Amino acid sequence: MPLKSLTINGFKSFADKTKIDFTSGITGIVGPNGSGKSNITEAIRWVMGEQSAKSLRGDKMVDVIFAGSATRPQMNRAEVILEFDNRNKELKTTQDEVVICRRLFRNGDTEFLINNKNCRLRDITELFMDSGMGKQSFSIISQGRVEAIFNSKPVERRSIIEESAGVSLFKQKKQQAENKLSDTTDNLHRVSDIVSELS
Ligand code: ATP
Repeated sequence: MPLKSLTINGFKSFADKTKIDFTSGITGIVGPNGSGKSNITEAIRWVMGEQSAKSLRGDKMVDVIFAGSATRPQMNRAEVILEFDNRNKELKTTQDEVVICRRLFRNGDTEFLINNKNCRLRDITELFMDSGMGKQSFSIISQGRVEAIFNSKPVERRSIIEESAGVSLFKQKKQQAENKLSDTTDNLHRVSDIVSELS
């Protein structure tokens, strides 16, 4: 599922609207320390639904909005747009091109869009589920993550292998099914209580 482009506007160090086109082959992004290379991968994780401000190196989510510099005032909105070529239908939608967008305003308002239509965060998460992409997939390896994997405990390493093998999704579905089963069992008990009260 090739990425076509990434557009960043008001996110972290990107005060100016910046579009990166990903042509075929490998795209390398180079620059001096502190020039914003990691901010680019964070923008990708953010638009795909990252909800942890800490994992984006901030305290609160509004910290991702451009905070101003010596020459520019702070901005009131961060926007990231990620465009996919979906002709091979790896994303579960009939569209050949999928464009996801996330906006955050300084007052905390947030917007998610898929192909220019407002949607919920959940719709974006579900779009990427089982696709190998997604905010926590191993298609994005942040600085220090490789070391963290090497130093992780066997149980943590097992969960990494399970996610790579696609087992996590089924574990999640199994857990959801078990929760539903437990809710239904509770409801059945309640119904049988009511029936015995009435009889
Ligand atoms: P390195 O090569 O050292 O890892 P890098 O190129 O990956 O650096 P980043 O870590 O992506 O650089 O960018 C850090 C820069 O982003 C810092 O200069 C920081 O001040 C700036 N920055 C982060 N958040 C904001 C924000 N909300 N507003 C303005 N600038 C920000």
